[in-house]
Amino acid sequence: MRTIKASSYLVNIGENALSQFDFSSYSKISIIVDENTSRLCLKILIKKNCLLKDSLIIKIKSGEEYKTIKTCLSIWKQLTENNFDRDSLLINLGGGVIGDIGGFCASTYKRGIDFVQIPTSLLAMTDASVGGKSGIDFIGFKNQIGIFNNPKSVLIYPAFLNTLSDKKLKSGFAEVLKHALIANIKLWKKLKSTHFDKLDWEEIIYTSVEIKKSIVQSDPLEKGDRKKLNFGHTFGHAIESYYLEKKKPILHGDAIFMGILLESEMSNITAIEKIEIKKFILANFDLPNLPAKKELIKFIKNDKKNKDCKISFSLLKNIGDCTTNNLFQLDEL
Ligand code: NAD
Repeated sequence: MRTIKASSYLVNIGENALSQFDFSSYSKISIIVDENTSRLCLKILIKKNCLLKDSLIIKIKSGEEYKTIKTCLSIWKQLTENNFDRDSLLINLGGGVIGDIGGFCASTYKRGIDFVQIPTSLLAMTDASVGGKSGIDFIGFKNQIGIFNNPKSVLIYPAFLNTLSDKKLKSGFAEVLKHALIANIKLWKKLKSTHFDKLDWEEIIYTSVEIKKSIVQSDPLEKGDRKKLNFGHTFGHAIESYYLEKKKPILHGDAIFMGILLESEMSNITAIEKIEIKKFILANFDLPNLPAKKELIKFIKNDKKNKDCKISFSLLKNIGDCTTNNLFQLDEL
C-alpha cells in the first residue's frame, strides 16, 4: 500500500486501499455507480467494507453525454427523498464522469456534504480523482459549470483496471503521458522504453498522482502553475466538444492524445522530440479522426482559459517542463 498526502486528504493506492477509510461516522451513505461499475466494482467494494452493504445505490447512465444537470437533478432528488442530511456521505465509484458529477452533487447538496472518490478507470485514478475539481458539461461545453472542493479521501484499487477494456485503459493513459511530458522526463523515458502490456500499474498510478498532487498543491485554484495540467487540453477539450455536439462522443483520453499531438507541435521543443511524441502516440493508440482546425474554433473561443480574446495554451518548454499563458490569436492557430 502506498499513501500520498494531498493537502487535506489522503490518497491510498494498493490492494488494501478500499478499507483505508472510516465510513462509520456518517448518518447515511450513498454510492453512485453506472451500469458498468455497478456490475463490476460494487460487489468488491462492499466485500471489503461490510458497513457499506446498506448504502443507497444511485445508478446513473455511463458516458460523457450524461455529465449534465439532468443527472444531477436525479441524484439530488434521490438524496432528498431518502432524507440525506449534512452528516451523510457520497461515494463516487466510477470513472471520471462519476467522479466529476458526484463531486459536484456532493459539494452543492445542502451546501456541501462529504464525498470519497473511488476511481475505477485509469484516467480517474491517475488524474480526475485528485485535485478537487468537479463539474458538469453545459449546452455542449465541457466542464462549464463546476466547483473546487476536495474529497475526504481517494481510494485507488488498481485491480479495478482488470475489467476495463483495452480501449478505455489506453485512453486513460493520455493523462499519464501528459504528466510525464510536463513534469517528469524519467517517467517519459520509462513509458517510451516499456511495452504497454508490461507496465506496473501501481507504480505508474503512484508516480502520476504524485506529479498531479505536487502541481495542484502549489496552486490549488489554478492561478499559476496548475495551468501546466492544461497541456493538450485546449485542443483536446475542443475536439471532445466537437464530437459531443455531433452526437458521436469519443473517450476523453482519445481527445487529449490528439490535443497533445497538436500542442506538442506548437511547443518550443526540438523537431526530434516532436517526432518521438508523435510516433509514440500513433504507434500505441488508435485514435478517431482529427477534425479540421476551423471546426474547433467555436469551442476554443469559449475556453475558460482565454484572456482578452486570446487563446491561452500551456506548452512544453522541454520534455519534463512546461510553460503557461502562451497567448495566441485565433488566426495564428
Ligand atoms: P468515464 O467515467 O466515462 O468512464 C469510461 C467508461 O469506463 C465508462 O463506460 C465506465 O462505465 C467504464 N468503467 C469505469 N471503470 C470501469 C471498470 N473498472 N471496469 C469496466 N468499465 C469501467 O470516463 P473516464 O475516461 O474515466 O473519465 C473522463 C471524465 O473525467 C471526463 O468527463 C473528464 O472531463 C473528466 N476529468 C476530470 C478531471 C478533474 O480534475 N476533475 C481530470 C481529468 C478528466
